[in-house]
Amino acid sequence: MTDLTCSAEGCAHNQDRYCCKGEIRVEGADAACCQDTCCASFDRMNQGKAVNNFETPKRSLNVACEAVSCVYNDSRRCTAEEISIAGHGAEEAGHTQCASYRSR
Ligand code: SF4
Repeated sequence: MTDLTCSAEGCAHNQDRYCCKGEIRVEGADAACCQDTCCASFDRMNQGKAVNNFETPKRSLNVACEAVSCVYNDSRRCTAEEISIAGHGAEEAGHTQCASYRSR
C-alpha cells in the first residue's frame, strides 16, 4: 500500500487531495520523467458537481504502474511509501502525472 496525495481536484474520485479508489493505475511504459506518466484512473468530474460526496477518501491504496523505469516499480507495482499525483487543473488523464517518478 502506498500513501497517496493527489492535486487533480477535477477528478470524480478526489476528495480533499486524497483518492477514493482502492487502487489506481499509472501509465508510462516508456517513461523517462514524471511528465511521461499519468494516472489512468482519472475520471473527469461531472460538470456542476461541486464536490465528491459519495466516496470515502483513502490515504493508502494499491498502485499498479506501467512505468517500469521508475526506481519504485517492482513487477508493475509501486513500492514507494508515499507518492504524489500532480493534476491541478487536469481535465483528462493525460493532464496528470506521478510527481514521485524517479528514473533508475
Ligand atoms: S512512484 Fe514510480 S512506481 Fe510509483 S506510481 Fe509513481 S511512477 Fe509508478
